[in-house]
Amino acid sequence: MAPDDLMFQDDDAGTAPTRLSSAAIPWPVLVVDDDEQVHAMTRVLLNDFEFEGRRFAVVSAFSAAEARVILAERTDLPVVLLDVVMETQDAGLRLVHHIRRDLGNRHIRIILRTGQPGQAPERDAIVAYDINDYKSKAELTAQKLFTSLVSAVRGWCDLVTIETLNQSLERRVAERTAELERQTALADEQRRFIENLVELMPSPVWYRDAAGRYALCNRAFRELFPNAAEGIEWSVGTQDVSEQAPAGTDSFSFETSVSGADGDSRELLVVKRPLSSPDGAAAGVIGIATDITERRRMERELQRLATTDPLSGAHNRRHILDLLERLLTGQEAVADSRQTGGAACLVMLDIDHFKRINDEMGHGAGDIAIRRVVEEIRSQMRATDQIGRIGGEEFAILLPDSSRADGVAIAERLRNGLAALAIELPDGRCFQLTGSFGLTEVRPLGDTVESVLGRADQALYRAKALGRNRVEVT
Ligand code: GH3
Ligand code: MG
Ligand code: MG
Repeated sequence: MAPDDLMFQDDDAGTAPTRLSSAAIPWPVLVVDDDEQVHAMTRVLLNDFEFEGRRFAVVSAFSAAEARVILAERTDLPVVLLDVVMETQDAGLRLVHHIRRDLGNRHIRIILRTGQPGQAPERDAIVAYDINDYKSKAELTAQKLFTSLVSAVRGWCDLVTIETLNQSLERRVAERTAELERQTALADEQRRFIENLVELMPSPVWYRDAAGRYALCNRAFRELFPNAAEGIEWSVGTQDVSEQAPAGTDSFSFETSVSGADGDSRELLVVKRPLSSPDGAAAGVIGIATDITERRRMERELQRLATTDPLSGAHNRRHILDLLERLLTGQEAVADSRQTGGAACLVMLDIDHFKRINDEMGHGAGDIAIRRVVEEIRSQMRATDQIGRIGGEEFAILLPDSSRADGVAIAERLRNGLAALAIELPDGRCFQLTGSFGLTEVRPLGDTVESVLGRADQALYRAKALGRNRVEVT
């Protein structure tokens, strides 16, 4: 066991012995010799030696076996002075073999010392075991021993330094490799996450390369366009929508409708972003489509509910007055009359003696009558004409592009139609009714909704006063 002041420690990250720099610690020299005298003499000789401010200290082993024990425990020994003949003729050479092969100690410098020249090691052994010096015991004067030891210690120090550097280099390489592996694993994980996410997305997603090929797409895209995935050209919408974003934008969107795999028409909101390669060249376009068919259907349904009278299916009061307002302000296509110089007409219709129908046939019959009246008017109207329910059994009929004479003719036709209408009830009863009509021309340049309604009401009042079932004009 080495004394405490000779203790060297293993580098905690490797097996290379560490040379402590403390000047107080002497260089340990392992002397392996079965001759006590050799130990004593070496100790005396080393007494004077000093190298790099450190003295030398003998660590003694009197047999190869004893040396093995010491060598197994200490990695800080820079040099061994080794006798060849000890327990056996070749105990020294066997120990060399043990040091290099079994212990794997490639640092310790080995200086063979022998009493007889005939015991010199074979050349092969010198090469194989990295025997660093060979001296006859007679040769070992103080000067020669010092030279040998200094050169051995220097060699050992260099080897230890190289080993330490190697180990730190290897450690850094290993750390860097591990870091790269970690980053690669992370990048792999991110890629898998993105791939799976895109694949799972319910919206069709695709990448169309610069050659116009659908290079990447997800399941939703393949389901909607099975042919596109096979390389068949698919263009968004009826015209092949430009892949170029409008200037100054990095993405752009538009709505389109396509015919899906099942043949159904689907309404899509498409968002596209052109991609460019690092050198700025166009590299294709990524796109995502959201199926807005249902949303649009619901919007249309809401719009219908908001503008329709639930009992009759005609426009409700607000909507028919809105249409009149738009006609007056020229917002509506029906306002063509303004450009063409043609007039438009508004007709107010009120069912005659409707109270009697309710009273005699029941309120349900009144409701049926209201519905049948609207159906009848609609069957007589032109496509551009509009009917709205203004109140109970009173309706406004907007006749765009109609002169006063046209309007009167239409109103007469409607009046005749109503008078001829036989309304059947579910219980088999049947009844008839008539209506009174008040017509006025709409004058976009001077009229308001109120002024038009006012004149039409006046005409209607007169029709009632003059006996009902007639058309009056103001
Ligand atoms: P006139 O010929 O002068 O127009 O007589 P009229 O009986 O038609 O007019 P009046 O204004 O006296 O009566 C209208 C009736 O319409 C009164 C009301 O109870 C009824 N009414 C209003 N809205 C509805 C409805 O939605 N359904 C039914 N069944 N009746 C309605
Ligand atoms: Mg009435
Ligand atoms: Mg009325």
